[in-house]
Amino acid sequence: MAGLVLDLVLPERCAACGACADGLCTRCRRAAADLCLPAGAPVRIAPSVIAVAAYRYEGVIARAIRSVKRPGRHAAAAHLGALLWAQLEPVVAAGASWPRTWIPSTASRRRQRGADIPHLLAGDDAVALLRRVRQGGDQTGLDAVRRRALPPGDFQPGHGVPPQVVLVDDVRTTGATARAAAMALQSAGAERVLVVTLAAVT
Ligand SMILES: [Zn+2]
Repeated sequence: MAGLVLDLVLPERCAACGACADGLCTRCRRAAADLCLPAGAPVRIAPSVIAVAAYRYEGVIARAIRSVKRPGRHAAAAHLGALLWAQLEPVVAAGASWPRTWIPSTASRRRQRGADIPHLLAGDDAVALLRRVRQGGDQTGLDAVRRRALPPGDFQPGHGVPPQVVLVDDVRTTGATARAAAMALQSAGAERVLVVTLAAVT
């Protein structure tokens, strides 16, 4: 609720430097261009799981990502999402028709930030295919038998996972979280997963 109120009161600011702008100001966009990863710098993080990222996690991009995670500042994440898809359009072209989903944040982070940042990056068309479990009491609603049946990891797949999925997150560091999420999707029928993040630690 606090985030919602702030959204109504605060003007749109550059997520990186705070100047008046939607998403990123012109100067920060120019600085971000220097952080672009060629062709998304694809890496294979698990069998049939390729990860690409638009930018290196540095400078204005790192500042912008940290900024949108602050309470009341998540609105700019949609602008960062637009940058992400514009930057990676040629790379993701092959998977453009694949359904998009996102790596859900923990419930406590969602509450703290007022939104699920990866969902905002993924866009309105994205479908929820994963839920976070085993953290902060997120297993509520699962009976004991289902808890024991969970694959190792922090994610539980939903129903109707398609054979090919684009999986969105804000930052890839070691790739362990994306790998766990992708493998949860694979356990529910996904054959190929393309992990797309706004930034990657390189
Ligand atoms: Zn700026």
